Amino acid sequence: MISVEEALDKVLSYVEVLEPERKPILDCLGQVLAEDVYADIDIPPLDNSAMDGYALRAKDTRGASESSPRYLVVVGEVAAGSMPTKEVRLGTAIRIMTGAPLPEGADTVVRFEDTDEVNRKSSGSDLSQIGILCQAKKGLNVRGRGEDIAKGDLVLKKGKVLRPQEIGVLASLGRSNALAIRRPIVAILATGDEIVGVDQPLAPGKIHDSNTYTIAAEVSRYGGVPKILGIGRDSVRSLTEKIDKGLDADMLITSGGVSKGDYDIVKDVLAEHGEVGFWTVCMKPGKPLAFGIIKKTEGRREKKVPHLGLPGNPVSSMITFEQFARPAILKMMGKKILAKPAIRAIIEDDVVNTDGRRLFARVSVTRRGGQYYASVTGPQGSGILTSMAKANGLAVIPENSKGVKAGDVVEVQMLDWGEEQGEVKTVPIVSIVGKSQSGKTVLMEQLIVEFKRRGYKVVTLKHSRGGMEIDHPGKDSWRYAQAGSDAVLISSPDKLAFIKRLDHDLDIEELLPIIGPEFDLVLVEGFKKSKIPKIEVHKKELGDDLLCSPEELSAIVTDGSLDTDIPQLPWGDTVTVADFIEENFVLKS
Ligand code: AMP
Ligand code: MG
Repeated sequence: MISVEEALDKVLSYVEVLEPERKPILDCLGQVLAEDVYADIDIPPLDNSAMDGYALRAKDTRGASESSPRYLVVVGEVAAGSMPTKEVRLGTAIRIMTGAPLPEGADTVVRFEDTDEVNRKSSGSDLSQIGILCQAKKGLNVRGRGEDIAKGDLVLKKGKVLRPQEIGVLASLGRSNALAIRRPIVAILATGDEIVGVDQPLAPGKIHDSNTYTIAAEVSRYGGVPKILGIGRDSVRSLTEKIDKGLDADMLITSGGVSKGDYDIVKDVLAEHGEVGFWTVCMKPGKPLAFGIIKKTEGRREKKVPHLGLPGNPVSSMITFEQFARPAILKMMGKKILAKPAIRAIIEDDVVNTDGRRLFARVSVTRRGGQYYASVTGPQGSGILTSMAKANGLAVIPENSKGVKAGDVVEVQMLDWGEEQGEVKTVPIVSIVGKSQSGKTVLMEQLIVEFKRRGYKVVTLKHSRGGMEIDHPGKDSWRYAQAGSDAVLISSPDKLAFIKRLDHDLDIEELLPIIGPEFDLVLVEGFKKSKIPKIEVHKKELGDDLLCSPEELSAIVTDGSLDTDIPQLPWGDTVTVADFIEENFVLKS
């Protein structure tokens, strides 16, 4: 039996990223952009108004208020789509609509609501003048030329997955086509003498073909183009004939005929026509799986199509599709994130795992009070497709586990979440450790300066055994805490501190979510017991022994030289230490 990971590696090693094609942007949804897109125009192309109102000079509104309006002479009007014909001089204004270009001379737009226009209209007064009821800052309600995109900008990078917003950006740049990695064509073949088409009457002993539909829908969902080959009978001739029609596809998916029954002949056909792997994969459902390459020589050309033979049972075929066919399709489409997004949830039922395989249990995931819960959706037989229909997740019970009890935490693959949702920015983190007096803090200071110089947003993390400076007795924050507040948040225009009473000393894993993903690098001092990468600072005068064991260390910063295989970096050469951190942690994360 091979593991799910081994099977997946093998499948992925047989498929390649497909070639790009140029096509209308609306057909590119979900495809990977295969070119860098630079702007050849400014967006917006001209300074324009963000509001319906009056274009004027901010200077002219000085001191204006409802009780003492500033009156300006209205010299014209400009609507969106036309160009202003007049210019705004001191003491004048031009009536302007949202999106209309800002007239020459104007620097600000005051919206109708901040003028006396409505009053004038209702009282029938003269509209050749307008009263401005507020003092406006220069630039108010003006959208600057190139504010969104400046001519020459790299707007979309090669490799970007095109979502509706990227398609909109392309349209705003005036591009009706884009170069994107082609969608794979996936041929789908059901097999079995008992299987009949959806619109066929059910003779005794027959069942409708559901796999073709589930698989075709999955192929479309992940961006491929399904090519339905129909139903092959359990004979070599019938299967060969059908498979032949699928050989111009990028991949062939069959269902059924791969187990050990008398009529399970997909494998015989494959053995004759290609390179085959038959595997029992260590998973449940979905143990039997066939994979290989079908070869066919046509004239002088040899065609090769990767083939995935899924088990026949509807749930098995769907779950194996999710684990193997889905990543293969995504890889062919040029996507980088192939893993199904997973969450950690509290399971609400006991699930037993009897035969040492990885169990995928169909669950319904709900979120309550900030916590995910997963409950099993009913009978788990591999033919019971309705329990799949009730599920939005697959709880993964590891092969080495005998099962889980209600209340345990399990990993759940989220069936309806897009792969990109699983892409959480991971902020690189490295800890500077060392004996006391080794110079940790000095190195930290030097590194902070160096990384700021390199343009990083750095956050530092330090454990303070002796309590906190800002929490001094007598201070307001201290008094709130004394009064019983569990946490105190102090904010000022340029700083924020969050003080929370703890019932245990937090470890790094618990601290990181509080820091959040906005930073480029987390520099930690200490926390020598944590599992994060560590660099030890070493001073000759403190002896040759190290604080951490060698296998824990990524490097040593030392003023001497030590007899060890661990990379040694010179004390005082911050640029070299920063380069090491950048190369090993930042660029690799
Ligand atoms: P097999 O792997 O061919 O022995 O099929 C295993 C089980 O899956 C059998 O009970 C089949 O009837 C069922 N099955 C196979 N193909 C399909 C299909 N296309 N639609 C629905 N059920 C199927
Ligand atoms: Mg069969």
